[in-house]
Amino acid sequence: MSDRRVLGIDLGTTNTCVAHVRNKVPKVVPSDKGRLVLPSVVGLSERGSLVVGNVAKEQMVTRPQATIYGHKRFIGRPFNSPYVRHLAQKVSYEIVEGKDAQVAVRLGDRVMELPEVSSLLLDHIRIVADQFLGGPAEDTVISVPAYYNDNQRAAVKRSGELAGLKVRRIINEPTAAALAYGFNRGFNQKILVFDLGGGTFDVSVLEVEGNVFQVVATGGDTFLGGVDFDERIIDYVLEEFKREHRIDLSNDLVVLQRIRNAAETAKMDLSLLSNVVITLPYVTDRKGRPIDLRLPLSRSDLDGLTKDLVDRAFLICDKVLASKGLSPHDMDEIILVGGQTRMPLVQTRIQEHFGRPARKGVHPEECVALGAALLADSLDQIDAVTLIDVLGMPIGIAAPGGRFKKVIDRNVTVPYEKSLGLPKSSSEDGVVELDIFQGDSDKIIDNEYLGSVRFPRGVERVTFRLDEEGILQLSVVEPGGARRNVNLATQTTPPSLKLALEEEMERQRLAAESSGSEQPREGLFASIRRVLGRG
Ligand code: AMP
Repeated sequence: MSDRRVLGIDLGTTNTCVAHVRNKVPKVVPSDKGRLVLPSVVGLSERGSLVVGNVAKEQMVTRPQATIYGHKRFIGRPFNSPYVRHLAQKVSYEIVEGKDAQVAVRLGDRVMELPEVSSLLLDHIRIVADQFLGGPAEDTVISVPAYYNDNQRAAVKRSGELAGLKVRRIINEPTAAALAYGFNRGFNQKILVFDLGGGTFDVSVLEVEGNVFQVVATGGDTFLGGVDFDERIIDYVLEEFKREHRIDLSNDLVVLQRIRNAAETAKMDLSLLSNVVITLPYVTDRKGRPIDLRLPLSRSDLDGLTKDLVDRAFLICDKVLASKGLSPHDMDEIILVGGQTRMPLVQTRIQEHFGRPARKGVHPEECVALGAALLADSLDQIDAVTLIDVLGMPIGIAAPGGRFKKVIDRNVTVPYEKSLGLPKSSSEDGVVELDIFQGDSDKIIDNEYLGSVRFPRGVERVTFRLDEEGILQLSVVEPGGARRNVNLATQTTPPSLKLALEEEMERQRLAAESSGSEQPREGLFASIRRVLGRG
């Protein structure tokens, strides 16, 4: 019998879910007002107070600039990251540079670090959970996407601590989902976790043997999720409205937010119904006369608008499987995670692709929190589970010409260690500086900057070590023979990145000149200028 008070938290892009364990059975903690999930939204109300969850979500229409949603996609990332540059153009709130060159958001007249934003949600959850459990939780496990890098994991841990939670472990979401499915069931299976959530798509292949959960391969797309399905409907609605009324609604932020909400509702309704009508009264007027928006949408219309997004997810599955010489038919079970997997098209395609339907009985929105709670409960216990994870994205260093030189490959099993000879120093004091990046591209400007480290004269090798949580630690052997850990420091724009960005800007300028247009890829061009201080 277990009567420890533990929590497992799935801090989702769209929703946050929290679970506890009683008598070895994990259960979701109901949030206030009886809802089982809390929207991951934080806002500043008209009266100047901070609001979270449903209250914050409700003000998204009226206060789009003062409502932070989807912040999980930004947390722990440098402000200058290419990913941030891309995504910042898509959200209605303002992204700014915070402490240590990290992303922060503007909320009213204050700048908020993202761990603070998360901690507001976690604090709310902690209060609800404490009440429900009858006291504070002793241990908490929070889940993160498998591809999260060090900084992101550290930022999530910090969020929990800021909220007064004792965060014992971070667990990868797919591993948590697998745990919820297979814990204490005595399985011996290969399973595939297909996680299509609000913002990202992740796929992981695991081998489950008793209570040993070993991730074999993982992959995904950080730009593929439910919001992309919504975007397709939004674009369709805007186009149809323009065609019918010759009015462009795309510049009205409030109307756009109303359309966004209606699009998401229509999409979700179409998981149950075959036809809906998107109806929004009074979206604009002509000569003082109100115009309503009314547009029928069928399930097959939706499938047509989003088929290529679903195709992309299956291509990624095949790539991940092929990286280990596996095929779709080698999988014993398919576990669905994330609300977007409720879409009938996704489920039919699962059946076609893998030759079997997805496993029933695993709740796509709850299983990650349930698995995290199971891990929290099993910490320090004799019948504990064994989790063996892999690195989600390659780690490497900046090389001449803005290239990314891989040091550790994707999918190596952690813990893992690799030693690297340092390049010769070109500076007088003999210092060597390495800028460390993580990502799939062979160019550093497309990857995520993790930090830099300086090695004094005499140090010849550096060891990259990933611990069992996938957190990177560097160490060196000093000239005297002693081993010493070295910390990564972050800079706004490290020298290698600055050089690479300058080269990219020059390349784009030349491309623009030869094509006769003034500035191609305006957003990227402008943001590079801003990064380089020439905006
Ligand atoms: P998650 O990040 O797991 O909370 O997933 C949220 C995403 O799932 C959002 O984009 C939702 O619009 C989407 N979603 C939730 N329920 C449904 C449904 N019944 N049908 C289609 N998509 C859904």
